[in-house]
Order: sequence, then structure tokens, then C-alpha cells
Amino acid sequence: MPPTTPSDETSPSFADLGLRPELLRALADLGYEEPTPIQRAAIPPLRAGRDLLGQAATGTGKTAAFALPLLDRLPIGAGPGPLALVLVPTRELAIQVSEAMHRYGRQLHARVLPIYGGQPIGRQLRALAGGVDVVVATPGRALDHIGRGTLRLGSVGAVVLDEADEMLDLGFAEDIDAILSATPSGRQTVLFSATLPARIARIARQHLTDPVRVELERESVSAGTAPLVAQRAFLVARAHKAAALGRVLDIEAPAAAIVFCRTREEVDALAETLNGRGYRAEALHGGMNQEQRDRVMTRLRSGTADLVVATDVAARGLDIEALTHVVNYDMPAAAASYVHRIGRVGRAGREGVAITLVEPREHRMLRGIERLTGQRIHIEQIPTIADLRARRLETTRAGLQEAVLSGDLDQFRVVVETLADDYDVMEIALAAVKLAYEASGAAEEEEIPAAPVVERAAPVVERAAPVVERAAPARRGQARSARAPVRVAGRPGGGARGGSGLESGSTQGRSRLFVGLGRDAGINPSDLVGAITGESGLSGRDIGAIEIADRFSLVELPAASIDDVVKALRNATIRGRRPRARRERERG
Ligand code: AMP
Repeated sequence: MPPTTPSDETSPSFADLGLRPELLRALADLGYEEPTPIQRAAIPPLRAGRDLLGQAATGTGKTAAFALPLLDRLPIGAGPGPLALVLVPTRELAIQVSEAMHRYGRQLHARVLPIYGGQPIGRQLRALAGGVDVVVATPGRALDHIGRGTLRLGSVGAVVLDEADEMLDLGFAEDIDAILSATPSGRQTVLFSATLPARIARIARQHLTDPVRVELERESVSAGTAPLVAQRAFLVARAHKAAALGRVLDIEAPAAAIVFCRTREEVDALAETLNGRGYRAEALHGGMNQEQRDRVMTRLRSGTADLVVATDVAARGLDIEALTHVVNYDMPAAAASYVHRIGRVGRAGREGVAITLVEPREHRMLRGIERLTGQRIHIEQIPTIADLRARRLETTRAGLQEAVLSGDLDQFRVVVETLADDYDVMEIALAAVKLAYEASGAAEEEEIPAAPVVERAAPVVERAAPVVERAAPARRGQARSARAPVRVAGRPGGGARGGSGLESGSTQGRSRLFVGLGRDAGINPSDLVGAITGESGLSGRDIGAIEIADRFSLVELPAASIDDVVKALRNATIRGRRPRARRERERG
């Protein structure tokens, strides 16, 4: 069957998708206004019990795309369970997905349990024994529990493989096969993956029955319709987004901007934050009545407000002639909606600017947008405190210049003249500038840490190397010393070497970078790949073998790039810490 390509034209509501009232209430409480394209495409077949093979990256709303129909369809709370098993590659994702399912299933009192390596097993055992509806697990830990008999899969009616390509890259293929064979054969199986290479097709062939296919990346805009707008992106962790936006706006000083958020809650919260920063920001969302919305529009048109913070739904049909900037505070859920959003500026030959804040995990979506529009989006540094000071000084200078030019200063002359008896006129001028500068600005801020791109570590082909980045205890006879270095083989093109340990130095044309953070600091391969590709001009392909020991890590890179990477990493943080980085010293 040909894959479905969700379109942005028709927009049924969550209620139109047939979801039960408890779920609709939960979604309204969360401030979701309408389903994202992947949700529109995936929810109906999944509610009908079909298997599904979906291509979707983080940021598209894929979690709700599988979570909502499962919560809708399965008899939540009916027995000890579990009714659904969601497999994810990392503990972070296990926590994130289980929190999301918990929020969606709140009104149904769904019991959702994350289980992952590194968490005390006792707590997991107690929770499993008490009965659960949904288990969200990393494959290693799930297998441990299956082996111990503490995770019984007899009542599982649905299995989700989330970020399947990443699970394969982390070497979980066999574990996934083993887990799936332990589940009832009549179960529903859902596979989501950012990419659909042959290895994913194999899993799909083996474990999915007549799946519906949903692809997001097939969208295209016809040539010439992509708007000509200066596009900039900033990579920033979720926790720092509001502060980062404040800074970007301070530097950009837009005359009239629309800032897009995903939910009503975010719209209200961000409008408040921006008002606190001195902007005249208005909230606009689908929860407001027509009168309120008209008032907002009048304020924006008349210049009484500088910014409108809006959801996509509320902004639909909104036509503001004077808009100079479109800001994607939240990444749009599909590349096509990015094009719709930014099409609001840069019309009729006017110059417009589009600014996008990208969370590290959403990096892949940005690439999807670039493919769709055929335009490169440059990732820029979030303005630093020094940039903000420079901008404030410039504003102060411009203000003083204006005051000099406008004249009418005579009433202040006496102040300068009396001070000039005791002080140099230059000193007096400097003090006046200082006062003007201090009066112009907000409180001092803290530096926002650079966020590394979270891209997958160089993939490991067919478990050629011992990739054991799992905190699960040694199992099935694979006694690995708890403190043995973790190794990840590089891609063939990335100069992967045979299974040498930490002993060897550089190979031809390649050297190793020493990074003074290791397993003790919670470092994993994707942290290193993310920091290096995020901070330097290298791509994931340039990165070879990665070895992680307790206190340090070694990363194989093109020899000529090491000095640049060392320099680039000086401003980076990895897992909240500043890495010490240098070329690996050769040992004799
Ligand atoms: P995901 O791609 O599943 O990681 O979701 C990305 C983000 O979008 C999460 O913060 C979700 O809470 C949010 N989200 C998912 N679906 C919707 C929706 N229909 N409307 C607004 N926000 C959504």
C-alpha cells in the first residue's frame, strides 16, 4: 500500500478523530488545539487496531500519535497488565514518553511505568507487582525483567518501537527480536523511526502485519513558493528557551513579530515572561473569544503591542501587513507548517526574518525543513552577555546622540559647570553615560550554556563492536566489568578500526581527542558526537571510534581537525560541565 502523506490542508479536531472524552479533556487541559499531521494520519488506523510503520522525528508529536490511540483502545485499568509495552532507546526517552503517556491518560487513571537501567530495580519490581497499564522501557532492562519473570507479557495487546533506528544503532536489534517473540502473536505493533533504512524494513517485515505506512518527509513545496526570508536558528535546551528568546529579541529589536508556540499554556506563559522583560506582548490562542482576539489585533496594528504570541490555530487567517519577524519558539510539528508560518513575512518584496529555536533533539527536523525549502538555515550562537552589553551600549550611545542633536539641554548646564570646577569634563560625561546605561537595562543575567546537537552516535553495523552503553547488570553470561570502557565503533567511512582498546594511538590521518569527562560524569557517545558536531564544523561522518572510560573519553577524528575542535570545545558544556579537551598524548 502506498504510504500516506499527511497534508496540512484539512484539519480535523481531536474529537473528529473519535478519541474518547477522557482523552479529549486531558488534551484540552494540556492546551493542545488540534492534532499535528502525524497524529491526524496515525490515530485513526491505530484506533482501528492496525499495525503501523511511521517515519517521524522528535518534535512532530509522534508520542501522542501512538499514545492516544493505545490509551483509547486498550481496556485501561482492567487487570494487572501490562496492556502495552513501549520500547525506547534511552532512559531519558523512557522518562519523557512515560510522562507524556501519564499526562494523556490522567483522566483514565492510566498506570504508566518507565523502566530503565540505572534505576533501583526494587522500585520497579514493586510497581510491576502492583499492576500497570503501560510499560515504557529500554530494551536491556525490559529483557532483564522478562528473564526474572517480573515483566509478564501475556496480556500485552500493543507494542511500540519508538525511535527504532536509534535502538538499532545502539545494538538492541537482538533484544528487540527477543522481546517481540515473548509477546502474544495477535498484538498490535507500531514502529516509529526517524529514518527507514533496510534494517528497519527487516524488523517491519518480521514483526509487523500489513502495516499502514505514514511518512512525513515526503512533503514538498513547489519550487519558488518557499518564501525569501532571512532564516536563522538557535540551538538551545528547553530550560533556557525563554531566556534565549529574550536575548535574541533584544538584539533583533523587531518592529512587529509573531511568536509561535504549540500550546495555549505556552502562549500564556511566554507572553507573561516577555512582558516581564519589557516587551509589549499579547497572547492569542483558540481559547479566547472573538472580542479578546480583536482587541489583540487592534493593539498590534496600532503599534501598542510589539509582539503577538500565538498558536498555529489562532494565527490562521491572521493578516498583519507590518510583520517583520516570525519566531518559531516551538518548532512546528511538520516542515510544511514551517513554510506556512514564515510565509507571513517577506511578502511582496519586503524583507522578513524568521527565527527558530531548536531543542537539541529536534535538530533532525531542521534538516527536514531545509530539504523541503531547499534553503540552508544557519545555526547561530545565542547572544552572550557580552553581546547584550554591546547592544545596550550602542542603544545608550544612540540615545545620547539624539539628545545632543535635539538640543534643549541648557537646564542641565549648571550641573556640568559646577562639577567641572572639581572634575575633568570627560570624567563627568563618562559618569552620565554610566547612569544612562544602567537606567536602560534589565538586571544582569547568567550566561546560557551552548546546547550540543543530539545526534545519534556513529552507527554500529551489525553489532561488530561491543556496544554496551547500558547500565543494566551483566546478563546472559556477558560478564562485563562494571567499569570497563565502553567502545563504539565508528562508521567505515569515519575510520573505524578493528576492536583495539584504549592502547592504540593515532591511525593514518586520524588522531584522537582526549576529553576529560567520562562515565563518572554520565557521558555517553551521543553527548560527545553532539558536542563535537555542534561546536565545530565536523559532521557525524568525521567521527570515528569513541571510547569512554571512567574519567575521560577518547574520540577518533581527522588529525587536521583536532586543534580546531579543542578550541571549539572551550566554550561548550557537556552534561552541564565544561570539558577539558586536548589532543591525546602518544604513549610510548
Ligand atoms: P514529540 O514529537 O512526541 O516529542 O512531541 C513534541 C512536543 O509537541 C511535545 O512537547 C508535545 O507535548 C507537543 N505536542 C504533541 N502534540 C501536540 C499537539 N497536537 N498540539 C500541541 N502540542 C503538541
